[in-house]
Amino acid sequence: MSGTLFLCATPIGNLEDITLRVIRTLKEADLIAAEDTRNSIRLLNHFDIHTPMTSYHEYNKIEKGRQLVERLLEGKNIALITDAGTPGISDPGEELVKMCLEAGITVTSLPGPCACITALTISGLPTRRFAFEAFLPSEKKERRRILEELERETRTIILYEAPHRLVKTLEELLEILGDRRMTLCRELTKKHEEGFASTLSQVLELYRQKEPLGECVLVIEGKDRREILAEEREAWEDISIEEHVKLYEEKGSPRKEAMKLAARDRGMTRRDIYQYLLGK
Ligand code: SAM
Repeated sequence: MSGTLFLCATPIGNLEDITLRVIRTLKEADLIAAEDTRNSIRLLNHFDIHTPMTSYHEYNKIEKGRQLVERLLEGKNIALITDAGTPGISDPGEELVKMCLEAGITVTSLPGPCACITALTISGLPTRRFAFEAFLPSEKKERRRILEELERETRTIILYEAPHRLVKTLEELLEILGDRRMTLCRELTKKHEEGFASTLSQVLELYRQKEPLGECVLVIEGKDRREILAEEREAWEDISIEEHVKLYEEKGSPRKEAMKLAARDRGMTRRDIYQYLLGK
């Protein structure tokens, strides 16, 4: 029988945040796959864990992933840990989980610290609906595309960022999203934890003056739905009723539905639209 892959969440700053179940699983596993073995050895020493460790990271994930799957198929239990937080959330893990599931291996996740959820809960922004975007891509065109998508996002937005890129990212966000409420969360769970609830422009102003320290999560207010509706209304003013109905037909709506949607956008009834089109 094959073994199990255990995804073990580890502290993002405060060692007391490790769970009893994670400690036991790390002790009982046959092997620990760690993103950075030099970093994880400190954690393992602290909790008196002596399980053998091997590296599994972004640059060896395909070859090492295959080897780990083989070990699991032989019946070994493997615990995966990353530098910090929940494996698979913006760090290696996703690929290994996929490979394991394809090989019919059981994967289980031991919940624990995760920077995005920790930040969201102290942000003061709506938590019911949120969009986790992790790190913005560095490639210029792709980055612009994602930022433009985020401009229309109505859910609370969560981004990860390294301190040395924070100011540049805030500048771009302000330019494309406009000024919005946001909370900058730094050093979560650590001694100098900070949740600075303010606006994009004010956070930018502050960090232009003093260099940000420590890892950070940006939690940004989603776009107000009413703004989107107002923008759409303005856009409809530039096209005729026929074009408006056609637009929905081209998107796949049957004619009746297209007339209903165009009527809704324009604050008219479907009957008005029908009469108008008949009269043409
Ligand atoms: N797997 C991790 C998790 O569950 O959140 C995320 C790993 S990702 C490579 C690292 C990023 O997470 C950092 O650049 C930062 O944006 C965020 N992060 C991790 N620890 C943090 C902390 N203590 N305070 C603020 N942000 C943190």
